[in-house]
Amino acid sequence: MDNKNKAPLLETVDLKKYFKLKGGAKLHAVDGIDLKVFQGETLGVVGESGCGKSTLGRTILRLIEPTDGSIIYDGRDITKLRGRKMHEIRREMQIIFQDPYSSIDPRKSVIEVIAEYMLIHKLYRNRHETFNRAVELMDLVGLARRYANSYPHELDGGRRQRIGVARALSLNPRFIVCDEPVSALDVSIQAQILNLLMDIQDELKLSYIFVTHDLSVVKHISDNIMVMYLGKCVELAQSDELFSDPQHPYTKALLSAIPEPNLESRNKEFKIIRGEVTSPINPKPGCRFAARCEYATERCSQSDPEFIETEPGHKVACFLVNGQ
Ligand code: SF4
Repeated sequence: MDNKNKAPLLETVDLKKYFKLKGGAKLHAVDGIDLKVFQGETLGVVGESGCGKSTLGRTILRLIEPTDGSIIYDGRDITKLRGRKMHEIRREMQIIFQDPYSSIDPRKSVIEVIAEYMLIHKLYRNRHETFNRAVELMDLVGLARRYANSYPHELDGGRRQRIGVARALSLNPRFIVCDEPVSALDVSIQAQILNLLMDIQDELKLSYIFVTHDLSVVKHISDNIMVMYLGKCVELAQSDELFSDPQHPYTKALLSAIPEPNLESRNKEFKIIRGEVTSPINPKPGCRFAARCEYATERCSQSDPEFIETEPGHKVACFLVNGQ
C-alpha cells in the first residue's frame, strides 16, 4: 500500500524502555525504536524470546511507562498524557494477549467477561443494552451464543481466544496490539484466529501491531514486518519483500528455520545461530548480533551499524549490507 502522503495512525520516535536493576544497572529492553502503523494496516514485530517485542507493545499502550522517546497516536503526542485524557485514548488502543485466560476473572461467564470493559466505561445506558452488544460481539467473532453462560475454563483455547478478541473489540478500538495471540494454539486453530483477525480488520479498518516469535505466522497478516534483536530493530520491509529478499544475517537465519511444506524445497540451507546472546544489561557499543554472526568483523564490535534504507521501504542495520 502506498502511504507516502498519509499520516500514520500510530508512530514511535526513538522509543526506549530501560528497566533499572539492583546496583544501578539498566536492562535495555526497547532501545530506540522508530515505527509507523497506518490505518487498516498491520505491522508484524518478530524476534526471539527476550528481544523486547512484547515490552514494545505494552510501552506503546502505556501499560508500562517509556523511559524516553515519543508515542504519537492520531497526530497527538500521548507519551506523557495522564488522567482522563489518557483514559479516553485507552479505549481506542487495546491488546489481545497470548493467554486471554490470564486476564479473565474465572468467576465470570463468557458474556460477563465480554461486557466487563463496556460496563466499566459506561458505554451503554444500561446492562440490557450492554449485554445485547456483548451478544453482537460474540456473533462478530464467531462464538456461538450457546456459550454465553459458560465459563471460559470450559472452552477450548481457540474459543477462549475469541473471547479475548471480542473483549478487545468491545470498546470500539482503532488500534490493537496482538501479543502472540496464536502462539499457544494448535496450528489448525491458529489459522482460524488469524483469519478472524484479518476479517475483522477489513470490516472495521483496524490497525494492528502483531507481535510474534514465529515469522511464518505474520507473513500473510502483515503489510510490513519489523525484525527485532535485543531491543533494536535490525530490519524493516514490506512483508513480501522481507521474505523474498531478507538482508540482515539474523533475518536470514530466522527465515531458514521455517519448515518447508514443499518436499522439493526441503533441502534448503538451515542456518543455525551459534554463540552467546549478548546481555541487554548495559550493552556495550557495537552490533548486538555480533557474538552470533558468522560475518562479524572487528568493526561490528566497535560501533553500532546505522539503520539505513537499502531500497525504498526496506531498512537494515548491518555493516555488511548497507554500504556503511
Ligand atoms: Fe553481522 Fe556485523 Fe552485520 Fe552485525 S553489523 S549483523 S555483526 S555483519
